[in-house]
Amino acid sequence: MHRSADILIAGAGPVGSTLRSLLQRDGLCVLQLVPEAPAAPPPLVIAIGPAAQRILAHAGLWQRVPTEQIGYFDRIHTWDADGAQLRFAATGQEALACTVELERLQAGDRAESRLAGTPVGTPRVRDQRIHWELADGTTVDAALLVAADGVDSAVRTACGITTHRFDYQQHAVVCTARTAQPHRHIAVQAFLPDGPVAALPMAAPHTVAIIWSSTSDHARALAQLPEEAFNRRLEAVLGARLGTPQCGPRQVFPLYSQRSTRYYAERIALVGDAAQVVHPLAGLGLNLGLLDAAALAQLIAQAHTRRRDPGSRALLAHYHRWRAPPNRLTATTIHLLNALFASSALSGVRGLGMELLDRSPLCKTLLVRVASGQCLDPPLVARAAAP
Ligand SMILES: Cc1cc2nc3c(=O)[nH]c(=O)nc-3n(C[C@H](O)[C@H](O)[C@H](O)COP(=O)(O)OP(=O)(O)OC[C@H]3O[C@@H](n4cnc5c(N)ncnc54)[C@H](O)[C@@H]3O)c2cc1C
Repeated sequence: MHRSADILIAGAGPVGSTLRSLLQRDGLCVLQLVPEAPAAPPPLVIAIGPAAQRILAHAGLWQRVPTEQIGYFDRIHTWDADGAQLRFAATGQEALACTVELERLQAGDRAESRLAGTPVGTPRVRDQRIHWELADGTTVDAALLVAADGVDSAVRTACGITTHRFDYQQHAVVCTARTAQPHRHIAVQAFLPDGPVAALPMAAPHTVAIIWSSTSDHARALAQLPEEAFNRRLEAVLGARLGTPQCGPRQVFPLYSQRSTRYYAERIALVGDAAQVVHPLAGLGLNLGLLDAAALAQLIAQAHTRRRDPGSRALLAHYHRWRAPPNRLTATTIHLLNALFASSALSGVRGLGMELLDRSPLCKTLLVRVASGQCLDPPLVARAAAP
């Protein structure tokens, strides 16, 4: 069998599904290549900022999440090991971020646009099209292949794009917790020398998502603790704000950052975790990936309208110039923040910096806008509410 499309997307995670929906909305013929036996999405609760919410809404994915399953926070309260504090509050109508289980963002898809299979060999470019073969003999061709196949992207490897990876030698222990006190839509984050511990408000007033980053050995030990002991340790870290938590099953995730040296090769573009991975301390990985998807969709739709080639080198170079610099800036900032909070030698500078920033509403507003993707030239669908 042979299948042909304008755009072939490898990967059915939230970034690939968002890109597919945006392109279909713009009238393109899209095929989404999905694994034959897809793994369940990781049990993560994700913070989604206003720009990313707008992108998901334009793609029609946000509306599919039942409202009662969406949490939000309009304040963030952080502190470090020496007691220095920094608070952020929403200034306008919008919350700082919403929280949602990652699995809720995996689209219930139109079957005809999905192709389940395992690619074999390397995608090859011939006659201005990219061609790929699947293990069952199916062949596919498109003007552009988009790698949305996650951190270990097979497409990225096949086309020879290299990555730089930084291993934080940390793991995150992740779980949800019922709390004695209501969260009051305040996200809290304690920056400990071994790594940050965050509690993100979920939809239910007494439920939060815990992300406890620490050295790998410590994180594994925390994950192994009996439930009662873990609850007590968490309460000791978060203080009296939420009362004694009752935590659910814990999962452990390795933490690293990774960036691709280029976001494109001949008739191939990288988006989402396939392009870059950041430490989750600022809750931005998926937010950046959705901005990638929206930016690429915008360029492809413009080319489609003008009857131009959506896989041209000029378009892909434009995409790289648009998305790689802000992603790198964000990754570097997160990296420096992690180092700053881990260092006891810098505790004086850090405390002073936090105090000064805490007293500067303008700087805080700007920081929130940059972090949530509302500055640095966002794509059109990230700026305007969906119709
Ligand atoms: C502890 C933790 C907390 C986090 N918290 C946040 C947060 O609060 N906010 C935030 O924005 N981000 C957060 N992130 C990051 C976020 O989870 C990721 O950035 C996001 O899930 C990446 O989405 P993606 O679609 O690019 O990749 P994935 O979700 O990895 O999807 C890739 C898809 O490709 C498929 N695939 C793989 N190989 C192939 C192949 N060969 N062919 C076809 N398909 C293939 C996979 O099955 C999968 O469906 C967090 C991450 C961690 C680890």
